[in-house]
Amino acid sequence: MEMQVVQRARENFLAGRSRPLEFRVQQLKSLQRMITDRQGEIATALKQDINRSQYDTPLLELIGLENEISLAVSKLAQWAAPRPVEKSLLTISDQVYIQPEPLGVVLIIGAWNYPWALTLQPLVGAIAAGNAAVVKPSELSEYSASLLKALLPRYLDQELYPVVCGGVSETQELLRQRFDHIFYTGNSTVGKLVMEAAARHLTPVTLELGGKSPCYIDKDVDLRVACRSFVNCGQTCIAPDYILCEPSIQNRVVEGIRQTLLFYGPDPKSSPDYGRIINQRHFNRVMALLDGYTAALGGQSDSSQRYIAPTVVKDVPPHARLMQEEIFGPLLPIVTVSDIDDAIHFISEREKPLAIYVFSSNKKVIKRMLAETTSGGVTVNDVMMHYTLNSLPFGGVGQSGTGRYHGKHTFDQLSHHRACLVKSLGMEEVNMVWYPPQNHQKARR
Ligand code: NAD
Repeated sequence: MEMQVVQRARENFLAGRSRPLEFRVQQLKSLQRMITDRQGEIATALKQDINRSQYDTPLLELIGLENEISLAVSKLAQWAAPRPVEKSLLTISDQVYIQPEPLGVVLIIGAWNYPWALTLQPLVGAIAAGNAAVVKPSELSEYSASLLKALLPRYLDQELYPVVCGGVSETQELLRQRFDHIFYTGNSTVGKLVMEAAARHLTPVTLELGGKSPCYIDKDVDLRVACRSFVNCGQTCIAPDYILCEPSIQNRVVEGIRQTLLFYGPDPKSSPDYGRIINQRHFNRVMALLDGYTAALGGQSDSSQRYIAPTVVKDVPPHARLMQEEIFGPLLPIVTVSDIDDAIHFISEREKPLAIYVFSSNKKVIKRMLAETTSGGVTVNDVMMHYTLNSLPFGGVGQSGTGRYHGKHTFDQLSHHRACLVKSLGMEEVNMVWYPPQNHQKARR
């Protein structure tokens, strides 16, 4: 079944159907229409999947997606045009340029935490770049996956952009097929399997993975502002995973977060704005991470609803279990460090994170953090904002991923950049230099 879907997508790609710019624009506009027409259904599916509030869905997924589409529609002619490059003396009268070309059939494998954005944003780039694409949404966000499978063929060309639903075995079956690019979002363990499968066909990959993204709070900062940024259910790849701060401000950080959490009212469990954990397995995993700790804030849970209160744990030892794996849930450990040197050392001796956050009013601290650490992206004095700008490439480095996307970066990621030189035949006299014999006889001619 999967094989036929991929085969059909390839045949349609090879027939050149996805290439004309007008076709790409028309498909992108149709995708835009789908989001406008179906916003309500999409929000309902997300409510069923992760209890996401209706208000959050446009904000967290759809607006960004619509921005991506309108940018691609307005810039496509420019992105797809030949890009002239510098010439040498020998090529001065030739045409020399880089031509972005479609790669072929792209496989997009999405994760459950933003099931629409993580499948459709790469798809926008795949369509814009002239590719066919097979979309495989996560089986964990099942309402969203089946809605996507029902909707996409009504708006997009179904031969070129099919949706395949299913879990591990269906994904593995897909991964046995040959693609021209695989764009995977999810955890690093599966990321390695994807890369292994891709290697068998020498298929390039984009891996949008996760990891532990640190947040350094300097003593020199308005803590009320810093702590306001911790509103989320933690199931975001670039959520701050842990806080680093000096012991002298730890209690004030906890107090600041307590104040922030009042956004949800006295009881987050009854707030329509507070989400739930995706499934029982993840609920148990997150709860197990809390074992043996006393929460400084929160700590309550209700397994029947997969509810975990926003929870802060103080004085977490650097080698505790909470500090080994990505939390991906509403727990926030605080690890104390003696100073900025210690914080930089702490971050640098661990895997390169997807994001780093720094809160400080001190320019020197900010400068040092930026110069002496590395990560996929960084936001200073806020969280996650670098993700929202499609002029910035989004992606990881090292264990947090490979490749980048958003805006033109997605178009470039899913294009081949062909080096083109079209020789001018008017300069044959100059070309004589190259032809044999390469010796003094030529000089005498
Ligand atoms: P998930 O369980 O939905 O898995 C992701 C995809 O991998 C799914 O489509 C699933 O079908 C497929 N899959 C799962 N097991 C597989 C296997 N054995 N073989 C082949 N395919 C398989 O999502 P997840 O991995 O729990 O997602 C959470 C992780 O993703 C976190 O680490 C998070 O940080 C990361 N993430 C990264 C980004 C990013 O943009 N960098 C965004 C969201 C999530």
